[in-house]
Amino acid sequence: MSVLKEELEKLLELQTLDIKLLEINAQLKQIPDQIKMLEKEDALLKKELEEFDKTFTHLKVERRQKDSELKAIEQQIETLQSRLYEVKTNKEYQALQKEIENLKEKKSSHEDEIILLMEKEEQFREKEKQLQEKAEEYKKEKAKKQTELENAINQLKETRNLLEQQRQAYVSRIDGVILELYTRVRKAKKDGIAICKITKDSNGNICSGCYVYIPGHLTEKIKRKSEIVQCENCGRILTE
Ligand SMILES: [Zn+2]
Repeated sequence: MSVLKEELEKLLELQTLDIKLLEINAQLKQIPDQIKMLEKEDALLKKELEEFDKTFTHLKVERRQKDSELKAIEQQIETLQSRLYEVKTNKEYQALQKEIENLKEKKSSHEDEIILLMEKEEQFREKEKQLQEKAEEYKKEKAKKQTELENAINQLKETRNLLEQQRQAYVSRIDGVILELYTRVRKAKKDGIAICKITKDSNGNICSGCYVYIPGHLTEKIKRKSEIVQCENCGRILTE
């Protein structure tokens, strides 16, 4: 039956279109997730920069505080030093000297701390610059990737429209009963394969959909092409 042979060939072509459509839809489904990932990465970078700024601000406040403490200590030393000339007794003089010494020690340790804080600040400024550059770079990269993904969506949709138009044309040329069977089998298959060719190995013929051997009488029926044959194992339509 040459008619059935033609119908099966048309089904195979239809299936090629359907598989392409399946792939396109899978790709289209993935893209929003990819866009979401870009946003997520962006948010992470922003958070990192915010956290960093907080610590940096804290450090700057700490240094300002130390600076003003240092100024206060210096003033105290000055005041005490001017009083040295006013004291009457040796004991008072020594007490004052001792106090000045203590303050000078305090001043010196404050100066050390300030130097450390300044060094730290320098490192932070460097790190801040790096983070800002990283954020800036990512912003550009993100915009570029977003455009690419949006273009991909448009292109995929365009291809899908074309394929759907082609599909309509095919479908109208296929026998209704055969098409219905194809649609039914296809719905049940995750890979979207409803019709497949048989392949041969040394032990016999195999269904290329489920890789199970096909009994000889079925192979004969397939070759005769007088009726539609489905795989006894997976239900797919079989063809030569
Ligand atoms: Zn099978």
